[in-house]
Amino acid sequence: MSRTGPNPETEVFRSVEAGRIEPSWIASRLESWFPGHQRDLPWRQRRTPWRTLVSELMLQQTQVSRVAERFEPFMARFPDPDAMVSAGEDAVVAAWEGLGYYRRARLLHAAAVAIRDDHGGEVPDTVEALRSLPGIGRYTAGSIASIAFGRPAPIVDGNVIRVIARIDAIDAASDDPGLIEHCWRRAEGLAAAAESPGIVNESLMELGATVCRPGRPSCDACPLVDRCAARRAGIEDSVPRPKQPPQRELVHLHSILLRRGDRILLRRRPAKGIWAGLWELPSVESASRLEPEAVAAGLDFTVEGLRYVESFRRLLTHREVHFHVHEGRTRVRRGEWCDREEASTLGMSKPMRLLIDRRAWGVTD
Ligand code: SF4
Repeated sequence: MSRTGPNPETEVFRSVEAGRIEPSWIASRLESWFPGHQRDLPWRQRRTPWRTLVSELMLQQTQVSRVAERFEPFMARFPDPDAMVSAGEDAVVAAWEGLGYYRRARLLHAAAVAIRDDHGGEVPDTVEALRSLPGIGRYTAGSIASIAFGRPAPIVDGNVIRVIARIDAIDAASDDPGLIEHCWRRAEGLAAAAESPGIVNESLMELGATVCRPGRPSCDACPLVDRCAARRAGIEDSVPRPKQPPQRELVHLHSILLRRGDRILLRRRPAKGIWAGLWELPSVESASRLEPEAVAAGLDFTVEGLRYVESFRRLLTHREVHFHVHEGRTRVRRGEWCDREEASTLGMSKPMRLLIDRRAWGVTD
């Protein structure tokens, strides 16, 4: 099979379809396994459709352990869609800090507005209505519809792709369109065959996260080991093949710390692009590193005595960001001059928060 990926109509996928394990067997194994093996996670302790929706949005691109730490304080602040709408988008973005991909916080607030305006304040219970909400795609709609409402809706994420590629022994890259399409068909069959589609879906994800992990899976602990085709063929360590790592765009961010007494100057980033709408030290972005004079020339106000102090690098999924920190003086009054407490209420990227804590307030841990 080529590395660029097979066509779903090829012989390989047809033979997988013909020889596949029955969905009812997989579903019933997963339903029996899940209750005794699921991790104790906050959104599982008390389930409501709103808690499920919030947790699924948080989990889209953030590690489970990080979401687990922040989930209950977030829910205490926004216990229902009405409370989130009343608090406003800025409050949601600020409370989202540390979860990354801040666009999701704005989409969550927009979803809360749509739930209040179009669904009487209740999370809708069909895939179609859920998909009409901002930020809810095919996967998230399927998760919420199945977990919160018991609908036979399929889900496919990275964990599900790995499990299905292994039980069907499909030697393809995990982002191969043919494999992904095969997984959606398989997931549909599993949800339809399940007594509890939500449990089967959660169980598939849990199995991928805790047992059928990337690299070497723990097949001895797997409820599907009796019939797993990859295990039988001895290829469980090598399928699916890893996808190509993302090409990262190189960004140089020159940030300037300006003080006035116990206050520092902060600005809001543009509404589009990296860390959209979050707060930061006044900064100049470029494709290559700039000298202090060029940094000063890139600002829309005047700074004096600009002095370089340090650089550090952060890797994001699609970008490699080099921070170059400077200090200087200004007489400008525009922008927000914030003390430590005020700055703590503004939404910021994690590296910017750490930079300000360290440089402006002298916090070292
Ligand atoms: S038997 Fe092993 S490879 Fe197959 S699904 Fe279970 S953990 Fe994954």
